[in-house]
Amino acid sequence: MKDIEKIFKEVGVIKEGHFLLHSGLHSGIYFEKFRLIEYPECAVPLFELLANQFKGEPIDIVAGPTTGGSIIAFEIAKILRKRCIIAEKVEGGRDFLRGFKLNAGENILVVDDVLTTGSSVRDVISAIKRHKANPYAVGVIIDRATEPIDFGIPLYSVYRKRVKNYSPEHCPLCKIGIPLTKPGGI
Ligand SMILES: [Zn+2]
Repeated sequence: MKDIEKIFKEVGVIKEGHFLLHSGLHSGIYFEKFRLIEYPECAVPLFELLANQFKGEPIDIVAGPTTGGSIIAFEIAKILRKRCIIAEKVEGGRDFLRGFKLNAGENILVVDDVLTTGSSVRDVISAIKRHKANPYAVGVIIDRATEPIDFGIPLYSVYRKRVKNYSPEHCPLCKIGIPLTKPGGI
C-alpha cells in the first residue's frame, strides 16, 4: 500500500495542496486519475492486482463507466478474458448503448478508476439491473471516498485512502491562507 502511494505521488496521481473539488468542497489531496495511464509500466501491475482479485469468479462481463472506467474495464476484461462493455451517460443516469447486450442472469463485474462519491458506479449498477443482469462485485483502482460506500455487493480497491473534504467555511487550508487551486478536468 505504501509503495503504491509512493508511485502515485511520483507520477502525479496524488497531488497535495488546496483544491476546489467539483462538489464545491475543498480538499488537501486531489487524485489526478488520468495520470495513472501516462505510465503503463506503473498502471498495468495495478490492473493486474485488481483483476487477480476476481480470477476464477463466475464473471461473464466487465463493465465500466465512461471515460476513465472504460479504460479500466477493457484492461480488466483483457486479463480475465471476459467481454467488456461501457456505460455511457444518458438522461437520469447511465446505459449500455451502441448495441452492447447483457443477457438476463449474467454476472457483471463493475470497475472504475477512482471512487469518490460512488455515483458513477451506482448508475452502472442500476443500468445492469434494468437489463435483468446481475451486478456481481465492484472493483476500483483508488477508493478515496470520505466514508466507506456500500453498493450492496462486494467492493475491492487496490488502493484506499479516506480523504477529508471541507466546506469552504470550515476549511483549515483556507484559514492558513494556502491559495485554492481548481484542478483540471473536474
Ligand atoms: Zn479551503
